[in-house]
Amino acid sequence: MSFNEKTLAATQFHPSWFEGYRYVYPVVSRRAGGVSLGVNLSPTKLCNFRCVYCQVQRDETRDEIERAVATTDPERASSLDVLRKTPAADACRVDLDVLEAELSRLASATLDGSLFRVKRFAEVEPSKRVLRDFAFSGDGEPTLAPQFPDAVSRLIDLRKKLNDDGIKLVLITNATRLTRPEIVDALDRFDAANGEIWTKLDASDPERFKTVNRAAIPFDAILKNVAFAAKRWRIKIQTALFLLRGQAPTAEEFARYCEQIREILAIGGRLESVQLYTIARVPAESDAEPLANEAMDDYAATLRRETGVPVEVFYSR
Ligand code: SF4
Repeated sequence: MSFNEKTLAATQFHPSWFEGYRYVYPVVSRRAGGVSLGVNLSPTKLCNFRCVYCQVQRDETRDEIERAVATTDPERASSLDVLRKTPAADACRVDLDVLEAELSRLASATLDGSLFRVKRFAEVEPSKRVLRDFAFSGDGEPTLAPQFPDAVSRLIDLRKKLNDDGIKLVLITNATRLTRPEIVDALDRFDAANGEIWTKLDASDPERFKTVNRAAIPFDAILKNVAFAAKRWRIKIQTALFLLRGQAPTAEEFARYCEQIREILAIGGRLESVQLYTIARVPAESDAEPLANEAMDDYAATLRRETGVPVEVFYSR
């Protein structure tokens, strides 16, 4: 398939889908400060969380999600989709040859500048016309894909072929599978290739975790996984802060959150930074709304003061 304007223009209507492409999509990212090529290993939208702020449109109702979270056996939840609608293995299968071809084509288009001849990208300022990263992100949890370890190898090898160490490798994960042997092995290789692991930690107690991330997995398991990852690799923590039914995280909740970060540091966890962000796109649930910039700045100042960790802030706009 040739790289053409019509194909690229379609991306503006769906950021994690790209007409004619199955797995890879380009975005000009504020976070990356240039072009990020998203690698979506979840074409079936498979995820074991149902975050209230998730922008991926799925077809379950709020009641179905809450019932599933309340009744799923936590012992089995870490390896299951929360609604037990885990698609057949074939549907989840990622064709790595197709993925690599798409990534290679879009990387070349970014590097040779043809990406910026299409309407959607024509206004991108010169300083942002840079290929910043290949990022495992998209419509679900990347580490649930059986091909995740092999996909890691493909990204590392492609970057080598492009001979461009300036392209970062990023994994955005919800932390649920960070201690599984095959994932640990893949992430050892990812880390050795300077890949960055960005892991979600939105809550500071089991109740808020159930309300915000809507997962049946025990909150303790998430905390342990994040601590394990921070000790083994250098990681970034991503935390979503927002109004839920008009209520911002309380001072007590945020104090507990700061305490969690201090505990991770105290056991030798290496945190490159904590990214505090609020809702920037239309979320799954309408009662989740963005926080004002000033409120985000206040949380960031508290976190810096209480933990000394570097904090990055991403506003709604
Ligand atoms: S972990 Fe990511 S993909 Fe899964 S529900 Fe949460 S925001 Fe959506």
